[in-house]
Amino acid sequence: MTDADRATLRRYDPAMPEAASATTRRLIVLGSTGSIGVSTLEVVAHLRAIGAIHFEIAGLATGSRAEVVCEQARAFAVPAIAVANDVDHPCLRDAGARIFRGPDAALELIETVAQPGDLVVGAMVGSAGIPAILAAIDRGCDIALANKETLVAAGAIVMPRVRQKGVNLLPVDSEHSAIFQCLEEGGQAIRRIVLTASGGPFRTWTAERKARASVEEALNHPTWNMGPKVTIDSATLMNKALEIIEAHWLFDMPGHQVDVIIHPQSIVHGLVEFADGSVLAQLSPPDMKTPIQYALTWPGRCEGISKRLDWSLLSRLEFEQVDGERFAAPALARRAIEGGGTAGAVLNAANEVAVQAFLERRIPFSRIVELVQEACEAIEPRPLHTMQDVLSADRAARAFAMERLAQAPAAAIR
Ligand code: MG
Repeated sequence: MTDADRATLRRYDPAMPEAASATTRRLIVLGSTGSIGVSTLEVVAHLRAIGAIHFEIAGLATGSRAEVVCEQARAFAVPAIAVANDVDHPCLRDAGARIFRGPDAALELIETVAQPGDLVVGAMVGSAGIPAILAAIDRGCDIALANKETLVAAGAIVMPRVRQKGVNLLPVDSEHSAIFQCLEEGGQAIRRIVLTASGGPFRTWTAERKARASVEEALNHPTWNMGPKVTIDSATLMNKALEIIEAHWLFDMPGHQVDVIIHPQSIVHGLVEFADGSVLAQLSPPDMKTPIQYALTWPGRCEGISKRLDWSLLSRLEFEQVDGERFAAPALARRAIEGGGTAGAVLNAANEVAVQAFLERRIPFSRIVELVQEACEAIEPRPLHTMQDVLSADRAARAFAMERLAQAPAAAIR
């Protein structure tokens, strides 16, 4: 995007037709069939419809939903798609696109298709998306990052690379988008940043009741509609733990200056407290399309796709402290930041295994965070310099967690 394009966006006036000033930009969506990916394409269609920005979709990548990605490719005339798992699906034969298949498909897509100045949305689940994101940074692409695991596991590699290549890393995670927006107004003399947490479905549950929660109960999030991994992470507050580490890297903040506060309405997404006592916050309804749209139109703004806040219905905003006794995950994140090196990669990988085991009803809810804690205590952090360091820590944590799972007899889970 050129400076002239940015100026055009800044001058946005809802009363003026924008078609004449529409800009064009190439976009690649990694994880296009997940919740963030699908919302991203809705935002793209909206930005086209209002004539703000015409995103040309240069590539899409999915894990295992070949049929959905083929439909998306047809709808947006996408020339290249990557499918990691569902590689033999018949729809791929007549998708009319170049197909990349197998576990490295997203990486190959980036290496083949990405050009300097493209915007790449990183919305894959888990640490699997890291190599493709790094490759996109190396190619001079800006990154709209929804995949927090990238920074949790590999922040020490990603952030220097972002600075070295001079690309923009735009947070899509709603809390980090909020902090990013607050800091744009002058990011000096920051006392602390505060991420809000809805508290998930078990905010008011006792530890005993929570320990026995079913998969369905954990998937029943009160305010956000998201994929299963992040929804379970929200129920354990591990999502907030990952977000503390994500914020540490994005905003260059030590762990003790990244706070979490429970805010059940999910209207205030993040706050920045400055040295003089001023606090800036960003508010919007709980709809991921708002932070996605901001990452796509940054540094400009234009007519939003999401519902606006209805102040006549909004009677109260509540805040409460996190109960560290019932929710141990945030403390694990601060310890991982202090541990440094591969500690974040270990925490993330152990959590991916534990969440999967819970979703498969092999462990009770309370075992998820316990298992992550055991992995973090058993596996000493090592220095992190290369992707190889990330991958070996990731493997060690997975092996540890799986071994622990194999030792304990499968519990009878509802
Ligand atoms: Mg979030």
